[in-house]
Amino acid sequence: MTHTDAPTPRWRRVVFKPSGEALAGPSGTGIDPATLAHTAQSIIEIRQGLDVDVAVVVGGGNFWRGREGELSGMDATQSDHIGMLGTVMNALALQDALERLGQPTRVQSAIEMPRIAEPYIRRRAVRHLEKGRVVIFAAGTGNPFFTTDTAAALRAAEIDAEALLKGTHSGVDGVYDADPRTTPSAVKYDEIGYMEVMTKDLKVMDATAIAFCRDNKIPIVVFDMSRSGSLRDIVLGGRVGTIVHDV
Ligand code: UDP
Repeated sequence: MTHTDAPTPRWRRVVFKPSGEALAGPSGTGIDPATLAHTAQSIIEIRQGLDVDVAVVVGGGNFWRGREGELSGMDATQSDHIGMLGTVMNALALQDALERLGQPTRVQSAIEMPRIAEPYIRRRAVRHLEKGRVVIFAAGTGNPFFTTDTAAALRAAEIDAEALLKGTHSGVDGVYDADPRTTPSAVKYDEIGYMEVMTKDLKVMDATAIAFCRDNKIPIVVFDMSRSGSLRDIVLGGRVGTIVHDV
């Protein structure tokens, strides 16, 4: 394909946010090598195939969620620190999977651990993206009481990403007016406004992340990661999942 024949992506820079469980495969815990490779391949399809700058904010729910510890009496901050370290494991695994497929990467961690990752430095992250590297942001925001959804929204604003692509794992392929797993009559939205998501308390991302994206005019696409080619289709403007934006 010549350069002029290449399809034109609707965004030039995106933040991709796979939930931790989206790296775990059917069991929902740990890391599944096949799922990881599939995720890496999807990223490469848009990085190399469409020349889109891709930053990834990885979740950590396949290892630990702060809330789990809290429920059993653990100090909330301590529990969130464990959760953030879980995201670092996912980041390193995704880095390995991408690089084995020939895609240069950098991991930047919001909690400094210089032996294994760069610290988060915005300007350096942008430079990596400009050089065609995939930047993986680990350790969320670095602060307890936040989620990786909020970290993804924050990083998207900081690096001037044009969209936040949230890959789900649960078989739910977008935003519905009720949980389609328990309410068979639930209706899927193709698009929806930020305010409607917030007022109806629809399960898209946590409220902080939605409000942040609204204030910074960052569209969010919620989609099912297990479907091959989803990321590419979304970036090319296909109607995949649900887009949350100003309507
Ligand atoms: N976490 C945190 N601060 C952040 C991001 C994450 O404390 O900025 C902790 C929190 O305990 C959270 C866990 O890391 O439950 C894993 O992140 P998250 O639940 O967002 O992962 P996902 O649901 O996307 O797998």
